[in-house]
Amino acid sequence: VRNSLDAMRGAATETVDGRPLTVSANIELADELAPVKHSGAKGIGLYRTEFLLLNGEEMPDEKHQAEVYSKVAREMAPHTVIIRTLDAGGDKLPVEPLTDLEPNPFLGWRGIRVSLARPAMFREQIRAILRASALGKVAVMFPMISGLSEVLRSKEMVHRCMDELEKEGIAFDRDLPIGIMIEVPAAAICADLLAPEVDFFSIGTNDLIQYTVAADRVNPHVAELYRPTHPAVIRLIKRTIDAATDNGIWTGICGEMAGDIRLTPLLLGLGVEELSVGPQQVPRVGQAIRSLSHAECAAMADEALRNPRSQGILDLSMSLARKHY
Ligand code: PEP
Ligand code: MG
Repeated sequence: VRNSLDAMRGAATETVDGRPLTVSANIELADELAPVKHSGAKGIGLYRTEFLLLNGEEMPDEKHQAEVYSKVAREMAPHTVIIRTLDAGGDKLPVEPLTDLEPNPFLGWRGIRVSLARPAMFREQIRAILRASALGKVAVMFPMISGLSEVLRSKEMVHRCMDELEKEGIAFDRDLPIGIMIEVPAAAICADLLAPEVDFFSIGTNDLIQYTVAADRVNPHVAELYRPTHPAVIRLIKRTIDAATDNGIWTGICGEMAGDIRLTPLLLGLGVEELSVGPQQVPRVGQAIRSLSHAECAAMADEALRNPRSQGILDLSMSLARKHY
């Protein structure tokens, strides 16, 4: 079953020429819901569940996770909550002390790699997410996907947990949308191979940029190289959206780039359908979308795709931002 964004979202924000876009919020903890609801966000586009791992403790058990996810799902209803499975590792909290010893943590044991290597922990999280899906609109999303086999193995776990819950008589949503983060260049390049297997893509530009230009997202010495409008990044975003469109699924962006209103014209023009941003940025991004024409942004994005310079691409997007807000 393909889950369209229309079915998942509530009222969308529209451009002046009537193109709908969903503005949703990123959260890290269940107690951040008050500002999210206040912001007018149409759902949670990224719930970073690794923040359940406080002080290097183990992931809470299924029951505890189900309670937390259910609370978020209930409070955000009728809007969708996209729950991302554990993305520990990299610059984030390690799952086990072992990850501290990695020479290249960003290229090492993080995200879906950890979940697939710890099936008992992964199973508990998926079961908890499924249990919450009975109480509101919930979608699941997998981080750090680099190829098809990770998608298939992750989906297998979801289907296995669905079968278990059914046998146990525990309620869940059979049509729970399944999506993946596009944040590893390999996934963006092969997006056409992944799209037939999922219901949506969410581009994690924080990681996609750092892996594409090989510049650590948290290292100030290479901050100059970390450019959201690098032509390679823009091409990968475009490639991802085209693969999604060809396969009838939608693409969102949940990295920091989504909340930068200088870039809203460019992202809109490239064809994204959802922007998930910090709760503080929701009203501004919504306002930017309502001020822009999709047709004008799309023409600008075509020009941006032919521009060889990061600064040139940024300037093109900013020229429309300045013109309209
Ligand atoms: C990203 O990589 O852009 C993203 C949204 O995920 P995180 O920042 O949690 O790695
Ligand atoms: Mg990421």
